Amino acid sequence: CVDESNGDLKEVDKSIYMNPDIAIDERVENLLSQMTLEEKIGQMTQVDRQFLKNEKEITKRNIGSILSGGGSAPEPNIPEAWVKMIHEFQSAALDTRLSIPVIYGIDAVHGNNNVYGATIFPHNIGLGATRNPQLVKDIGEITAKEVVGTGIHWTFSPCVCVAENERWGRTYESFSEDPEIVRSFTTIIEGYQGDNLNEPTSILATAKHWVGDGATLNGTDQGDAVISEEQLRTKHISPFEDAIDKGVGSIMVSFSSWNGDKLHGHKYLITDVLKDELGFTGFVVSDWAGVNQISENYSEAVRSAINAGVDMVMVPDDYTFFMETLYEEVDEERVSLARIDDAVRRILTKKYELGLFEKPYPDQSYTSSIGSKEHREVARKAVQQSLVLLKNEHNTLPLSKDIKKLFVAGDNANDIGNQSGGWTISWQGESGDITPGTTILEGIQQAVSPDTSVTFEQTGRGIDSSYDAAIIVIGETPYTEGLGDRPDFLGLEQKDIELLEKTKETGVPTVVVLVSGRPMIVTEQIESSDAFVAAWLPGTEGNGVADVLFGDLNFTGKLPMSWPRLEEQIPINIGDENYNPLFPLGFGLTY
Ligand code: BGC
Repeated sequence: CVDESNGDLKEVDKSIYMNPDIAIDERVENLLSQMTLEEKIGQMTQVDRQFLKNEKEITKRNIGSILSGGGSAPEPNIPEAWVKMIHEFQSAALDTRLSIPVIYGIDAVHGNNNVYGATIFPHNIGLGATRNPQLVKDIGEITAKEVVGTGIHWTFSPCVCVAENERWGRTYESFSEDPEIVRSFTTIIEGYQGDNLNEPTSILATAKHWVGDGATLNGTDQGDAVISEEQLRTKHISPFEDAIDKGVGSIMVSFSSWNGDKLHGHKYLITDVLKDELGFTGFVVSDWAGVNQISENYSEAVRSAINAGVDMVMVPDDYTFFMETLYEEVDEERVSLARIDDAVRRILTKKYELGLFEKPYPDQSYTSSIGSKEHREVARKAVQQSLVLLKNEHNTLPLSKDIKKLFVAGDNANDIGNQSGGWTISWQGESGDITPGTTILEGIQQAVSPDTSVTFEQTGRGIDSSYDAAIIVIGETPYTEGLGDRPDFLGLEQKDIELLEKTKETGVPTVVVLVSGRPMIVTEQIESSDAFVAAWLPGTEGNGVADVLFGDLNFTGKLPMSWPRLEEQIPINIGDENYNPLFPLGFGLTY
């Protein structure tokens, strides 16, 4: 480490570390040898853009990474504004003594979902139902293009959690309750990162959350996974092994605990298992202020996290306090310089591999592809394949496109926000017309013949026996973290139940489309409907639902989770003793 005590820094020699013809290892070592401790700590610091006092702070504090927590967007929320913002941050980073580019991270978890007008894909639970890892790889590739189009090179995705308890509000971020199925979808990492991180359309992926986030007691978000090491390994660690095989560049630590110990301070799991045993060579990033949860004493929290093996800290707010604290911990030899060097080496290596030293500024070649017709076509295909048919009596489906009078109702029939769920435009998502796309109702209107009369009444007012069929689209409204936990009730809202009862009384053949982030307790409602479809959280391309309802394509989706019959059965998982779900994992009808 360069001695800065006399304030007399040697002149920077850029001839090696800025030379693209020299091997990355050598460039990293050369750069590292010229860095002060402050500069190293800067690389380990990730600040949320909303807490950055101004861009000059990046220069002044040598900040190595910025994020848009919860996807927070610049004003106006258009790709060009993102590009401009990243450009400014990057130029501030290049203004430092060593000109190390900044790496910007974003939660692009179902497409570049923070950007108005981007293509929004189904959430992971729906992708899990497709059983189509190649399609999911393509989705990764498209997402990477749309992310690069905003000047960003890092996504906090995929979540490779194995959700065991439907009460957990982040169940929708899980591809499946079955680790084998989750493993098969690590193909998305290949899509994000391409064959080589240095390709123009590659972004760094993050497997998250390390580890056991889907195993917490009662499905409490950020809770405690009380399970044996064998269970942890076979179920929750195993998808990370695939992610590492696929070369995932970063791994995010989980807010949760394992048998009472916070993951953020877990040296055994982060260093011994993840880095040493599984051979993960990328960098470990903390979750949002996750370090603060280790201890009320901040010095102790920072020390435990860094010594446990966290390489980059998503601070995200009081970054000067973090930097000063870590500086002091090193100064007092409670954190070794070797540990700091290891962390910085890992981070710099990824920045080099991404080509950020050569091409730090946004490349706008892909900006116009954001939300393109071509990308939306792939999202529509994903929606078609994600739908799971749970019931189809009297051959209600497929509906004929020549049907005379069709009634459509329900809060999720004509709402892009609801059908997209959390992590869409804003952190927790929002109902309403939040971004361009096709609602399920619009998809239906486009699918039927010009002679069909489609009546839409959100509340169901006016439904009577004169209709030939009814499509009722109900379920959950958006949530992302915390808000979605359902500790004791996972059924439908009363208004949805009443709507279904009213429809049933008319005797009109009824198709129920459930828009939700997980299986719900709908045993009675399935009983009283003619056809029932689990549509998960399909995203912006609602026409994918209509394509299958009206027979352009048959259903192919299979349940990625066991479907509980009763509240008391939750959590229910394949392999349980007395496994008796309403529908087993893998269930899915065709017509
Ligand atoms: C979530 C992470 C996310 C991070 C950054 C946290 O609250 O747990 O999954 O990547 O925020 O937005």
